Amino acid sequence: MRAWLQPVPAFFALFGLLFGSFLNVVRIRMPEGMSIVHPGSRCPRCQHPLAAWQNIPVLSWMLLCGRCSFCHFPISPTYPIVEIATSVLWTMSVVASVRQPAPIVQAVASAIFCWIMLLLAALDWQHFWLPDRITWPTIMLGLLWRGLHASIAPLPISPMLAAVLPAMELEAKPGVIFAAVLAAVLAALAGAAIVLVLRFTYWLVRRREGMGLGDAKLLAAIGAWLGFTAMLDSFLVAVLGASVAALLWIPFHLKRRSNQGWSTMSFPLGVFLAFAAIAEIFSPAWLLHLWLQLAFR
Ligand SMILES: [Zn+2]
Repeated sequence: MRAWLQPVPAFFALFGLLFGSFLNVVRIRMPEGMSIVHPGSRCPRCQHPLAAWQNIPVLSWMLLCGRCSFCHFPISPTYPIVEIATSVLWTMSVVASVRQPAPIVQAVASAIFCWIMLLLAALDWQHFWLPDRITWPTIMLGLLWRGLHASIAPLPISPMLAAVLPAMELEAKPGVIFAAVLAAVLAALAGAAIVLVLRFTYWLVRRREGMGLGDAKLLAAIGAWLGFTAMLDSFLVAVLGASVAALLWIPFHLKRRSNQGWSTMSFPLGVFLAFAAIAEIFSPAWLLHLWLQLAFR
């Protein structure tokens, strides 16, 4: 690692904890329509405001032994888990970016993407909700990022895209940026199309909703940020993961709701999409190729 980069992972780890704490605020308050800035943090049950020392990520939860110091209401371990997960992903974002051009910019982009994916996973898990207020801006941010990325680290343009754009001067910078953003738009549309086609097919067969429109926007966002191949890969990994999880969950579901049968079971696909996309940005290329070979043999 270059010398000037050495303190950066620690910096990202620390800020990851703080932004993990902020993620907790957003995931709790947004579904209730509350402001995410006002009022300050308080106990979810007795509403007692937290002192500054009770608001330190992870550490406060440990010092308080996972309980509110006023009413002794247990505080869910998901708070420190989310903070630690954000911190780990932000540190990984730096480590994965050190060998690339403009490492800090790439690390920040990767950290932002991970933060949004974690937030959407949490909301979908708890509320089966992927809000438009997050998914649409994420798609836009992804397109912006592809343009910025192309200007700092131009990737070779795919032959297919070059064939569609014969008149463009693709060697010059504006051409490279245009081609990259166009590729991202196409990947986003492809992502949305995959979910919409499957959703419509499911509706034709079963006459009820399968995948939600939120999943279409989330997969579009993943396409915009990561490109077509990684989007497709995330989708396949997510569907595989969700299928395995569903099979494992059937016995519990039947035990709890024995009168409804397994076909009424609903599963937050968005959680799997978000985690597959995070895995995608940190998985080494050889792993991706191995998986694609296995999937399409
Ligand atoms: Zn309390």
